[in-house]
Amino acid sequence: MFSFQERAQQLNGIAQTDYDLVIIGGGITGCGIALDAASRETGRNLKILLLEKGDFANGTSSRSTKLIHGGLRYLKNFEFKLVYEVGREREILHQNARHLVLAEKMLLPILKAGSLGKFTTGIGLRLYDFLAGVKYEERRKMLNKEETIQEEKLLKRAPIIGGGLYYEYRTDDARLTMDVLKTACIKYHAKALNYAR
Ligand SMILES: Cc1cc2nc3c(=O)[nH]c(=O)nc-3n(C[C@H](O)[C@H](O)[C@H](O)COP(=O)(O)OP(=O)(O)OC[C@H]3O[C@@H](n4cnc5c(N)ncnc54)[C@H](O)[C@@H]3O)c2cc1C
Repeated sequence: MFSFQERAQQLNGIAQTDYDLVIIGGGITGCGIALDAASRETGRNLKILLLEKGDFANGTSSRSTKLIHGGLRYLKNFEFKLVYEVGREREILHQNARHLVLAEKMLLPILKAGSLGKFTTGIGLRLYDFLAGVKYEERRKMLNKEETIQEEKLLKRAPIIGGGLYYEYRTDDARLTMDVLKTACIKYHAKALNYAR
């Protein structure tokens, strides 16, 4: 299905088919819609076509910071509901694609003259654990100065007063998009064509 050798045949098939759903754009949104529609009980008989003007995932979906949401930054803006939602979504993605969604340890250094102190950081990270439903073994750990420098030896010693350890989830965004599309096409028989504006 993804081979150029079958392209003429594919174009021909598309020209002769009436589609129920045509999706424009082969980034994570379009590929997600294709998989969602094709995999629903009610979507099994739908004819679904996705068209991408360039290569699949060549837009924003290969240029993200590769974090699965990075929910911590929303906490800074007091977007509690969003932190709750993305925490749960992150876990669903981790369960669905364990080969592509990996836990990554993050260190938040606390500086003498920084905007966040030890206490506020501790409370913030604890709140994040609670709202995002972080599993026990990945909950935040507060570190003293020596422990922080042990974790990251390249930090300048003088301004450090401590640190906070927590987890984000990292992915390969383009591969994740391709895996979603491949599942939609191979498992659920959606059709997709690239270089088709
Ligand atoms: C710097 C940066 C960092 C980010 N970091 C994160 C992060 O850490 N975590 C996170 O979850 N999200 C992050 N995001 C957001 C995330 O990357 C986007 O929300 C997501 O990739 C959007 O996907 P999309 O499918 O809507 O758009 P795109 O991936 O851009 O897909 C749209 C597609 O439509 C195609 N297209 C357009 N017009 C046509 C046409 N006429 N015919 C056919 N095809 C067409 C384009 O070629 C493109 O491939 C980040 C975004 C940026 C820019």
